[in-house]
Amino acid sequence: MGDTLSTKDRDLTGRVLEPVHKQRSGARGGSAPANIDGRGSTKRVETKSESVRKIVREFGWRLVGELALALYRHALLEDENSIAIHEELDDTSGEIVVHGDPAYLPPWLQKELNEKISEKIEVEDLDSEESKAPAKLKHELLLKELVDIGLLSRREISRILTCPKCSSPRLKLRLYCPNCGSDAVKSTRLIQHIVCGFTDTEDRLEKVGDELRCPLCKAIIVDFETQTRVLGRTFYCEGCGLTFKQPNIRIRCTNRETLKHEPNYEFDLLSTSVRKLWGYRLAPGKESNPLEVAMILEESIREFSAESKIPLEVYSGRGTLGIEKLPKELKSAGFTVIIESVDGKIVLVDLASGKEPLQYVMKASLLEGKEDINYILLTTPATEAEEYWSKTGVGAGSLEGNIEIIRIVEGGSFGRLIRRIQKVFSGGQG
Ligand SMILES: [Zn+2]
Ligand SMILES: [Zn+2]
Ligand SMILES: [Zn+2]
Repeated sequence: MGDTLSTKDRDLTGRVLEPVHKQRSGARGGSAPANIDGRGSTKRVETKSESVRKIVREFGWRLVGELALALYRHALLEDENSIAIHEELDDTSGEIVVHGDPAYLPPWLQKELNEKISEKIEVEDLDSEESKAPAKLKHELLLKELVDIGLLSRREISRILTCPKCSSPRLKLRLYCPNCGSDAVKSTRLIQHIVCGFTDTEDRLEKVGDELRCPLCKAIIVDFETQTRVLGRTFYCEGCGLTFKQPNIRIRCTNRETLKHEPNYEFDLLSTSVRKLWGYRLAPGKESNPLEVAMILEESIREFSAESKIPLEVYSGRGTLGIEKLPKELKSAGFTVIIESVDGKIVLVDLASGKEPLQYVMKASLLEGKEDINYILLTTPATEAEEYWSKTGVGAGSLEGNIEIIRIVEGGSFGRLIRRIQKVFSGGQG
């Protein structure tokens, strides 16, 4: 199929440029063409960009776009062992939530990721009149999908115990008397009255006014410290009076928002489930190869276009060959994302990788005087690219004609990119 391209072009980073107009057919309609692999078989496999499209539609272009840039920023600035987002047990809500350094994951993004959404799977009804589906946190679904498509990698941080039926971590330990089954069990000290040898729990000492009396020899214990010996601790049942070393341990699930079991469902230790808590970051290697992040940006911008009814063609920068309006010298340059409107306006977006800063400056110089073509560079403060750029006189974050630099900071950069795109394509000036 891809035989219309006789000589393969390469962009400045050496990537092979593929014609993208072929892949675009059917992209919007939902029914994508069959994926034809190298051997010519027509096995239908969901392509990565189709998966990304589904994720963007399900979770919204704003959230997914900002998250992708936030993770990209983390991957560029931190070492390969650090994690950008991690799960933890929230003490207040008793739920597993995601948390991240605000430098990468600003509070609004964390809040949105921890939103509860209904799970799509069916639950067996437990004679309940309401048929509410159990709510899952958004991050549990979104991050898992991003791991599934290979964009994120995750690693286990720790483990917590969860309910075997509803998976809630809101559990309470319950102790029962092995003799009578009462839960009136407490841990207490085992003491010995030294003079007579009386040995029992300290609760058995008789109270006489403010004083304690030995029930065996009837002597008043004047000085507890010197007249008794503490032998250790033991459990004591206030129901039947038995002392024992090992109570029956049961776990109670305190989650009342589930239909999977009755309130106060209890189970034994061996039935407990384990939930791993994960840490996430951009999959290794992606920081030097922003193509995957580009795919997210591409789909998020495409979804924005559909939602805002500004008709745009969006390509992630595997090639520029399909764009007729693009001058020859720019076609071979290669951009992360290219956006084109029906009236021929073009926005070129680059995601700076921190390497080869010169290429961005060169591209910008090619755009001088071409007012129908806008260039936006997404960069992090620490990349050489931005440093280099600032030396050329264009201030970071400034709106210099058709060129803009957007710093990827604190989860607002994608929104800023979208605003700029909106401005260009809705005809706004200035
Ligand atoms: Zn439960
Ligand atoms: Zn005594
Ligand atoms: Zn008992």
